[in-house]
Amino acid sequence: MSRLIVVSNRVPLPDENGVPPAGGMAIALKAVLKKEHGFWMGWSERVVAEDAPPELTPLQDDGINYQLVDLSQRDLDEYYEGFANRVLWPIFHGRPDLAEYSEARRAGYHRVNKRFAELLNPLLRDDDVIWVNDYHLIPLAEELRKLGCSNRIGFFLHIPWPPADIFSTVPKYDALLRGLSFCNLVGFHTDYDLSNFLECLNREEQGKRIEEGFYAAYQNEFRCGVFPISIDTANFESLAENAARNERLQVTYPRMVGYDIAIGVDRLDYSKGIEKRIVAFRDFLRSHRERVDKTLLLQITPKSRASIPAYRVVQKDVAELVGRVNGELGTVDSVPVHYINKSVGQSELAGLYRKARIGLVTPLRDGMNLVAKEYVASQDPLDPGVLILSRFSGAARKLGAAMLVNPYDTEEMARTMEKALVLPRGERIDRWRAIMTVLREHDVHKWCSDFLSSLNRH
Ligand code: UDP
Repeated sequence: MSRLIVVSNRVPLPDENGVPPAGGMAIALKAVLKKEHGFWMGWSERVVAEDAPPELTPLQDDGINYQLVDLSQRDLDEYYEGFANRVLWPIFHGRPDLAEYSEARRAGYHRVNKRFAELLNPLLRDDDVIWVNDYHLIPLAEELRKLGCSNRIGFFLHIPWPPADIFSTVPKYDALLRGLSFCNLVGFHTDYDLSNFLECLNREEQGKRIEEGFYAAYQNEFRCGVFPISIDTANFESLAENAARNERLQVTYPRMVGYDIAIGVDRLDYSKGIEKRIVAFRDFLRSHRERVDKTLLLQITPKSRASIPAYRVVQKDVAELVGRVNGELGTVDSVPVHYINKSVGQSELAGLYRKARIGLVTPLRDGMNLVAKEYVASQDPLDPGVLILSRFSGAARKLGAAMLVNPYDTEEMARTMEKALVLPRGERIDRWRAIMTVLREHDVHKWCSDFLSSLNRH
């Protein structure tokens, strides 16, 4: 029987407190791995000496086999934090001005991909199917092919693929394009990402279309497709229903009772548009003074990548902005922006989403954005809140029944907040139903099976 081999930078092992990761993708892929007896390969989270011999450590957890790779501090600095998070992440999110390129980082990125390939290749059986995930591992397929691997390889990109002009600000970008051509299937979240990718190939005079969804480039033939990731919708619905019944959660937030809550949940990342959102909320309160003392923004923002300068800047800017807005619009009784700088567990999140009249999901650019989907799945079907969603999130491509906004236009966002708060219940229910139809049909299990059946197609 053919096995599925999943490769990603991080693996979904429980954290130091034994808490398993909550993400829908981990749940879906683990379910498939349990059936298909493969393994998941990724970084062990151990940092070893640079001259330590490269090896894989096998591990079993929750019925899943893992193969774990140790990395040195230099590997992490160059490959993970360096090229992946300081170069590819900003450029793929449309911010080449924030990229901190160096040749050493690029070389480290390719070196670690080569090491992943060298460790993985000897473990492969002929009919194994390999699913590589995300921007950390773009060159992996090519490195495997160099070692003679002829297995089916699929690659899925979890972040946006940028327009060609922006993509080509990555020095030596053509190595990334060529690397992907060695896959059998390359998957993106949206048709927009796919067409950007094809345009990048065109500019290199590559990417001849053979038939629908099938291309030739760099002497390779491969399939490309659109597979919008989603959430475990049924699971989120039941988390939210349980939270609504859970007395402990009901009494945890007595200060929020009687308020109209707008909720934002984002890693502290410059791509998430947190500052513009807070400015829009401030402007909304400034022009609706009657709502001060009655409306609050609950902004849950765990810190992220804090060793990278651009992240430290956004951390400082958001904290100062929250201080200024609360100083201006706070009263003895109320604070308009509740800013929480730590991670909140998914059951509690589901309960908070359900209490919020508005889900504010306004990234400047986002591959998909799962928070948008979780917010909707958590609503009370008889009295749902309203999702305000950035046009520049992948989620917006399928969730047109949300109130779509331009996240750069703070005035439009402020006006939309007022509209959302006065939207009649019937219209809220119609919008909620339309989105739930999409989320129930296209949950994360469907995403997973669509990608795998396309990868297995001959
Ligand atoms: N999340 C969480 N606790 C938090 C903040 C976020 O569990 O305090 C989860 C959230 O529920 C969602 C994920 O982190 O599942 C964020 O995914 P998304 O696609 O929105 O953004 P990303 O962080 O991947 O850019």
